[in-house]
Amino acid sequence: MKVCVVGGAGYIGSHTVYELIDAGHEVVVVDNLSTGLKDAVHKDASFYEGDITDFASLDKIITDESRKKPFDVVMHFAAKIVVPESVKNPSLYYYNNVEGVRTLLDVMVKHGIKNIIFSSTAAVYGEGKDGICTEESETKPINPYGETKLVSEKMIGWFAQAYGMNYCIFRYFNVAGAHKSLEIGLLRDHLTHIVPVTIQTALGIREKMTVFGSDYDTYDGTCVRDYIHVSDIAYAHVLGMKHIALNNISEIINLGSNQGFSVKDIISEVEKHHPVNHEYGARREGDPAKLIASNKRAKEILGWTPKRDLSDIILSDLEFRKRHKK
Ligand code: UDP
Repeated sequence: MKVCVVGGAGYIGSHTVYELIDAGHEVVVVDNLSTGLKDAVHKDASFYEGDITDFASLDKIITDESRKKPFDVVMHFAAKIVVPESVKNPSLYYYNNVEGVRTLLDVMVKHGIKNIIFSSTAAVYGEGKDGICTEESETKPINPYGETKLVSEKMIGWFAQAYGMNYCIFRYFNVAGAHKSLEIGLLRDHLTHIVPVTIQTALGIREKMTVFGSDYDTYDGTCVRDYIHVSDIAYAHVLGMKHIALNNISEIINLGSNQGFSVKDIISEVEKHHPVNHEYGARREGDPAKLIASNKRAKEILGWTPKRDLSDIILSDLEFRKRHKK
């Protein structure tokens, strides 16, 4: 299939491009390089610099490429994803994450592209009762990031109904780790996610880290999350794309491991390799105590289960950061 990957120079996008190319698909990447890196784009993919909120530039790229061969699928990764940043700057999140999706959908409608794969998040669930989320769990985001993703999910649903499109919305849980080649991983300034922060601290790239809150209602007082290797997430996109395009169907699917680990567990796992200089601090705004995926639907519909566990996630990110010194 011919796939347009918007945000394909970013973390999850670049890993998905690797999986798509490994599976024999033709890939065109569009990215504004705001956080993505041109070097992260697979050498066999075509690359265009373009912004998801800019209709004219997306339209031109799709028009030029479609002359060679029309697109079968668009994948959307070009989102802002940092919860605390969204709490401080909601406008940036609504503009990029909601207006960007609307623009992309308009371009798809104009060009008759029927299939969209959309990156959503566990943050749409907010604070579930027991923290285990099925796709039917109540959606009630507690931060602007989650809210913008939920609004976009609904918008995609309405567009699909109006224009006969198919979608596969993936709700990611906590994505981490790096590609086995160690060529691509999560590289950017000011990382805030727990896995890279802990590993940077272990490697001395950061002097110290803070655990945000130790009085949550969880088994050790720190927040519990479901960690999932980025290459497992990426491969699910290849399966999801085939599923919706071939069956003419739409789906919402969680991508997680069905298992929860606390912030303390992450530190202990990294400390199997290197000590981590950490302290305990106040809670961070917008953090639910516990988010764990039910991944039953992914297994039933796509035959997908994660192949890598927490130790693989930590080891791959550790090796990646040692190599890139970042
Ligand atoms: N966290 C932490 N210290 C850090 C970064 C994150 O204690 O330096 C905690 C954070 O408060 C949350 C968990 O780690 O409870 C996962 O946060 P992350 O930002 O990695 O992902 P999120 O679940 O917010 O998407």
